[in-house]
Amino acid sequence: MNNLILKAEKTHSLNKEEITSILSNNNIDNVLFSSADRVRQKYVGNEIYLRALIEFSNICQNNCLYCGLRAQNSQIQRYALTEEKLISTAQIAIDAGFKTIVLQSGESSAISTKTLCKIIKKIKQNDIAITLSIGEKEYNEYKDLKNAGADRFLLRIETSDKNLYKKLHPNMDFDNRIRCLKNIKELGYETGTGCLVGLPGQSIGSLADDILFFKSIDADMIGIGPFIPHPQTPLCTESKGSLITALKVMALTRLLLPFSNIPATTAMETIEAQGQLKALQCGANVIMPNVTDEVYRNKYEIYPNKSACGTTINNFKKILACKYAPTGRTIKMSKGNSLNYTKKHR
Ligand code: SAM
Ligand code: SF4
Repeated sequence: MNNLILKAEKTHSLNKEEITSILSNNNIDNVLFSSADRVRQKYVGNEIYLRALIEFSNICQNNCLYCGLRAQNSQIQRYALTEEKLISTAQIAIDAGFKTIVLQSGESSAISTKTLCKIIKKIKQNDIAITLSIGEKEYNEYKDLKNAGADRFLLRIETSDKNLYKKLHPNMDFDNRIRCLKNIKELGYETGTGCLVGLPGQSIGSLADDILFFKSIDADMIGIGPFIPHPQTPLCTESKGSLITALKVMALTRLLLPFSNIPATTAMETIEAQGQLKALQCGANVIMPNVTDEVYRNKYEIYPNKSACGTTINNFKKILACKYAPTGRTIKMSKGNSLNYTKKHR
């Protein structure tokens, strides 16, 4: 088994059977984590890239069974930031030194593509990168947003298991999600995807397929997080995902996609204190501090008790630098482009 991990460290390739056997074996976790940590250091270095996350609207037309923002959750108070508020929030993050802004929302046309384009153009008057995480759109909308200046797009596949996808996403279509990812890639966005770990009905084999899916689309960014049940969703009584399994999926992803940007996700920190620190030591190289005003952030409840950094926007760099210095890592406020992307677009 150790040889299999060393082989992956050198060749960046494993088949489904090999991935499944590593995921099923609990005795080799530390070997796997150390291997992913070496690959991370060799290919993307010791810097932790910071991205400022703005959750600009919790309005969503979809009903993903796991998510607190689902349309049928009538217990949450919906909001959408005004154009001015969104731009001023981005400006505060830019003034604090952030070079990447991530604009995330539920999937809806509450803020039209036209308005979003206007906002993007305005923010892009600064020398920064913009990542969008706003769900499924038509090709022309993705195109307009790209032309307005958006650089990157995150759209998790959530699960590559078509049957499970269907069960968890009423009125959504797996093939359309794939179409969206293809469009995003074709339009020249840095392309991000990812999955949830520990979904009810998800098998180890399907997690192996998720990792192979990331490899097959040559993803530039990959966000992996444990499923956390939300009390106002149909999955409220299900068990939460396991941090260790999520870290193993992430570590294997690092072995197979050495140049990609991989965040230590908020869900990892929420499920266990120091979850992000652990993630940074087994493959992750990105942290996305939430810079949304607290009043809105509390309403953007994908899952309960979403971990916050607990600091002011100007202190992120200092606090995180102190926190992660003992691991030999430095905080970088640069754009932090995905090397997986830049090596293809030189
Ligand atoms: N609406 C957009 C979309 O779905 O792509 C972007 C926002 S959505 C809230 C961002 C991510 O939150 C999803 O891709 C999903 O993986 C994650 N998420 C939603 N509910 C979750 C839960 N209960 N536990 C962990 N992650 C969750
Ligand atoms: Fe909406 Fe995204 Fe939540 Fe699904 S995961 S309900 S699309 S916000």
